[in-house]
Amino acid sequence: RNEGLGSWPARRARKTPNRPALVYQDQSRTYAETHERVTRLAHALRGLGVRRGDRVAYLGPNHPAFLETLFAAGALGAVFVPLNTRLAGPEIAYQLADSGAAVLVYAPSHAELVDGIRGTAGVRAYVPLEADRGGYEELLAAAAADPVDEPVGLDDPCMIMYTSGTTGRPKGAVLTHGNITWNTVNVLVDHDLVADEVALVSAPLFHTAGLNMLTLPVLLKGGCCVLVERFDPDAALELVERHRITFMFGVPTMFQQIARSPRWPAADLSSLRLLTCGGAPVPTSLIAAYQERGLTFLQGYGMTEASPGVLFLDSAHAVAKAGSAGVPHFFSDVRVVGPDMQAVPPGETGEVVVKGPHVMSGYWGLPEETARAFTDGWFHTGDAARVDEDGYAYIVDRIKDMIVSGGENIYPAEVENAILADPDVLECAVIGVPDDTWGEVGRAIVVPRAGSALTAERVLAPLADRLAKYKIPKSVVFTDAIPRNAAGKVLKARLRAEYGAAGP
Ligand code: ATP
Ligand code: MG
Repeated sequence: RNEGLGSWPARRARKTPNRPALVYQDQSRTYAETHERVTRLAHALRGLGVRRGDRVAYLGPNHPAFLETLFAAGALGAVFVPLNTRLAGPEIAYQLADSGAAVLVYAPSHAELVDGIRGTAGVRAYVPLEADRGGYEELLAAAAADPVDEPVGLDDPCMIMYTSGTTGRPKGAVLTHGNITWNTVNVLVDHDLVADEVALVSAPLFHTAGLNMLTLPVLLKGGCCVLVERFDPDAALELVERHRITFMFGVPTMFQQIARSPRWPAADLSSLRLLTCGGAPVPTSLIAAYQERGLTFLQGYGMTEASPGVLFLDSAHAVAKAGSAGVPHFFSDVRVVGPDMQAVPPGETGEVVVKGPHVMSGYWGLPEETARAFTDGWFHTGDAARVDEDGYAYIVDRIKDMIVSGGENIYPAEVENAILADPDVLECAVIGVPDDTWGEVGRAIVVPRAGSALTAERVLAPLADRLAKYKIPKSVVFTDAIPRNAAGKVLKARLRAEYGAAGP
């Protein structure tokens, strides 16, 4: 019996065969069609030698084949390894070798990269998506369509998903079918998803949120996912109108770009029932921009290791608790603790730790990192938060990014949030720089709106009303872009290398 993700398409095809499952480039496929393709692909992968426990990697932008490969691997008890399309050849080769991938399915956009690393990664079979390279579609056409009968349990590994690599080299989180299933249930329960959901999937599927907070819950429920290859704010608004999108997830920078699109003021957003946002600090000015349009815009908080949902803001408190990452998901247990693992009192800052059936068993091939990440089964997130009297959590920032100035802790995200209240500030990141008197002081890196006459004085002056004096940066650097990774996260280490020298 297959209890895992690999059985979802078959189960859905039994229940709702003719409902649309996936839309890609205006082509729609039903659950029955998707199930048939997944079954054929599973036979084809088996023909390439894939057995239970083997790893099957995927490299390419959002596409139905991504999900077909995930489900087909799951049908065989094999482990899916989604790769980040923004990585360079050697980084891809590293993740292929690290995960021990037996097969790589890859998109035309990455054919050149793959040609460059062939032979170095230990992959046995390369499957290109292009029709003319004897790949994917030909394998499917030639494969059997009878049921794949492989017992898979909820404790079997389902994916090795690499973290975003914001603070170091990406680590492979081993997520079981149970981990993914419980996360999916959390999303369904806590966001009241319905079968009529039409989701816009423009966040990359190779990152945990686009796949696990949006796509998989909608597919389990029998809704429809509109897959978009590459995020573009104008196109996103156009697709919202055309497909009457009800649900979408984005990282903060995606929602920022949408709200700045020339299409935004006149866009028909009446179909949107739910917008969820997370993965990086969510500025209050961004929340306000969406709430002013009457939209339900909810912050969520999680990480790859937790499959990923940990906290979510419930829609009943969307306005009253705007800025909060909310409360634990249904099957999550969350504490904000001090170094002694005891919960800190309301209002005080501590580290978020989480336990639950959606939390990974460990990092792939990194027993020491795994051991360090857990205390008595609680996963250390490395993020600081405080909880208010009502139990609502506010994510403060990553502990690693904290600045210590004259013995006081400064969490850059709070300072960035205050600076972003100025509409002339498009983007902002705060880092610590060495200082003779204070040890470290804050420096704001600011991207001004084109044509604005922003000065350091104008950036800093309004902060006096909002922040304690020690939190106010001592210098401002203007630039035209802030480096981010594919998950939309600011690369603080790169900023520190570039702008982190002492001085004014
Ligand atoms: P790496 O672990 O490789 O350094 P990463 O932590 O960025 O990269 P992810 O698992 O994609 O990899 O991201 C999880 C992290 O994103 C969380 O630990 C937290 O720091 C941040 N994050 C997620 N949601 C929020 C949120 N709502 N507010 C602030 N930060 C968030
Ligand atoms: Mg992390």
